[in-house]
Amino acid sequence: MSYVQVINIDKSFQGRQVLKKIDLEIAKGEFVTLLGPSGCGKTTLLRIIAGLERSDGGKVIVNGKEILEGQSKKEQNIGMVFQSYALFPNMTAFENIAFGLKIKKVPSAEIRKQVEEVMDILSITGKENNYPHQMSGGQQQRVALARALVVRPDLLLLDEPLSAVDAKVRESARTLIRDVQKKMGITTIFVTHDQLEALVMSDRIVVIDSGEIMQYGTPEQIYHKPANKFVAQFIGTYNFIPGTLVGFPQTEVCIRPEHVLLVGKNELSQVGEADDIKLRGSLENFYILGNTVRAEVAVEGKTIVVDHLNQSARSQFALNDEVGLLIERKSCTILES
Ligand code: ATP
Repeated sequence: MSYVQVINIDKSFQGRQVLKKIDLEIAKGEFVTLLGPSGCGKTTLLRIIAGLERSDGGKVIVNGKEILEGQSKKEQNIGMVFQSYALFPNMTAFENIAFGLKIKKVPSAEIRKQVEEVMDILSITGKENNYPHQMSGGQQQRVALARALVVRPDLLLLDEPLSAVDAKVRESARTLIRDVQKKMGITTIFVTHDQLEALVMSDRIVVIDSGEIMQYGTPEQIYHKPANKFVAQFIGTYNFIPGTLVGFPQTEVCIRPEHVLLVGKNELSQVGEADDIKLRGSLENFYILGNTVRAEVAVEGKTIVVDHLNQSARSQFALNDEVGLLIERKSCTILES
């Protein structure tokens, strides 16, 4: 049986339904991300799972116990880290982290041992006596994480905990959270609207739109086998090519920019297999994105985006050149239109 079960959850605010029949199963130790655009219902679902919000129907079971709204921390063992960290400003880092253990009346020598252990895992040893205002955003975030982890929760809920730190810290914090979560084996639900973050961190991703689950799968499945057009559009970049252009009438063909090969117009006949798709077009634009180069090619009034590794200092093509595009049939996703 799954460790976390979210069964048939419905929720409306002022007559407007924001969650529709949400079902989720999460295994012990899994890292699952709720991903979707702003307002799609991620935080509401997380708050219902935490027992901070009442659902209109359905139930949540964590480690065999039903979560009910308004339960005390003693009745459920769920850790939560919010966007704002919500540290106690008048307590030191040590006191903030120790708070949950004190409430549980753990003996003070044991508290010291456990707090020191989790501070060590999160690399904040030495900050014990600092107050929140004496620490950087990244350090405060680690204290908030330590405070949630020290009680060894059955379930850890993270609501966009990386949104308030700068890009560089954010990148290292992703790895840190994932490493700590794996090391401690704590089942975790993470909320973000950042698709890259979801792809990098998760065992499985729940893609939500307007209160409904669009797809629940591994990053691999979500990226390579999107269940529908919403998922395809939301995760990364996709080309949507009318089927009529490539011999699939009544359909739309989706292809990732990195799966399209840009070649000279005369090379097209020499590359690919017999059933691959070959198109000709004109190079409209290209940009250096860092380690990749993005080209935009106009084909019969439709722009097709192509990404390739930035290996040469200069592109071999110039704007308005006539170019060829090679698309492997096996890399295409076909959507019925
Ligand atoms: P974001 O990424 O912007 O935080 P979200 O996906 O977490 O968005 P929610 O915060 O769950 O979305 O909100 C879902 C919808 O429910 C939104 O339209 C929001 O305005 C509405 N909503 C959330 N809480 C309440 C509330 N207490 N009263 C009324 N409407 C609410």
